[in-house]
Amino acid sequence: MNLLFSNDQPGQYPSSWYVNSAGDIPVYPTLTQDLTCDVCVVGGGYTGLSTALHLAQQGVNVILVEAHRMGWGASGRNGGQLGTGFNKDQQWLTAKLGEHRAKALWDISEAAKALIKQLINDWTIDCHLTPGVTSAQWRQRDLKNEIRYAEYLATEYRYEQLKPLDALGMAELTGSEVYCGGVLDEGAYHLHPLKLAIGLARAAAASGTQLFENTWVTDIRQSSDNSVRQATHVVTDHGVIQADSVVLACNGYQGKLASKVSKHSRDRVMPINNFIVATEPLDDITDNILPSDVAVADSRFVVNYYRRSHDNRLLFGGGENYGYRFPADIASVVRKPMTEAFPQLADCRIDYAWGGTLAITMNRMPCFYRHSRQLICVSGYSGHGVALAVMSGKIISEALLGRHERFDLLQSIPAHPFPGGSHLRSPLLALAMTWYALRDKLG
Ligand SMILES: Cc1cc2nc3c(=O)[nH]c(=O)nc-3n(C[C@H](O)[C@H](O)[C@H](O)COP(=O)(O)OP(=O)(O)OC[C@H]3O[C@@H](n4cnc5c(N)ncnc54)[C@H](O)[C@@H]3O)c2cc1C
Repeated sequence: MNLLFSNDQPGQYPSSWYVNSAGDIPVYPTLTQDLTCDVCVVGGGYTGLSTALHLAQQGVNVILVEAHRMGWGASGRNGGQLGTGFNKDQQWLTAKLGEHRAKALWDISEAAKALIKQLINDWTIDCHLTPGVTSAQWRQRDLKNEIRYAEYLATEYRYEQLKPLDALGMAELTGSEVYCGGVLDEGAYHLHPLKLAIGLARAAAASGTQLFENTWVTDIRQSSDNSVRQATHVVTDHGVIQADSVVLACNGYQGKLASKVSKHSRDRVMPINNFIVATEPLDDITDNILPSDVAVADSRFVVNYYRRSHDNRLLFGGGENYGYRFPADIASVVRKPMTEAFPQLADCRIDYAWGGTLAITMNRMPCFYRHSRQLICVSGYSGHGVALAVMSGKIISEALLGRHERFDLLQSIPAHPFPGGSHLRSPLLALAMTWYALRDKLG
């Protein structure tokens, strides 16, 4: 089984609200011949597209190959939340890595948001960028901790965009009465994720990248001769690309390829599936859900996240599984947490339901790894990839052009393999995640 093909038709986007609302999506050719380039990027999501764009802008000869369509993976299916920071907070990072490295990582995460705004501006990417993401807390204890953390960021990092909310404030902001409070981040954003990916593809192509769709990479081989200029061969069904360097940007879908070429990444990055629905337009049902158009993510282990679409639907994400197959009825899986937060939507129609695969690591920090001059592999954003995957592309391009500082910083974060070895890793992960999800339900 291969997550690249187990839930979707080859070369076709899922039937999501994003695809339906993206307008005309450009089609790129399929590779049908052998080619040569400086850098071959595998994967047409944010990581791959941003890498290609930033390299091409510096005059590097880049080819990007995508098994399906540009933005077909998590980048075209996600919740669209462009959050602040990493999955792990600055206090955790400071304790693990020291103040200096923690601050350098914070600077990277802030630069990530600025980079996306700049790309949207420079390339006129119409992806409905909207400010405001609020956390939603179910328990007083968690709310207190979060407010303390907001104070810490204001003092230590001069980040003053976090506004605490009590239960009433949350109810007014979200239209849901189930939370005891939350913290609104006025420096975070939400956007249409597939339109962002399509815009990045257009920018990469306009900058000189050759983009190929429906081009599945089945193997990557290092040439074994001892010539000074070693080449790497990226093998597809209808052509081989010979490149000086290869970037593996396949994230949750890297399975088989990582097993062949990057044991480091295979052992440290695991796929999980997550699900989203789009309701019918809410105009006739209720006008009190998210009146100020912010996005929300709650504090559950299996996070529920939601926002309004520009055509006034509720896009609600919730539910996870850990195998190769999505549930047969995604709408019913997601309807449950959605109506827990919004009982007023019990009878509302669900027009679209889709799933996607993201990647997590043990420490929930991205996994940056340079195997050699020839092969770089970056993945495992652990739910923070909208900002970080785009930023990673820039950092990968810097490393390939000889500026290693930010890449080395991210690579230096200690990253342990998932336990269980190649046979038990997946079942053990599923067991652990199910246990934590159960704790949510027990309260
Ligand atoms: C349902 C869902 C909700 C999410 N919500 C959020 C959110 O709100 N905020 C947030 O920050 N993050 C979120 N994420 C995570 C975020 O979407 C990802 O971290 C990010 O998109 C990763 O980008 P990527 O380019 O690395 O991977 P992807 O976008 O998955 O792209 C990888 C690409 O590689 C291609 N590929 C893989 N193998 C091969 C091969 N052998 N040959 C050729 N091509 C190959 C795939 O087809 C795919 O298109 C969510 C993810 C999901 C699934």
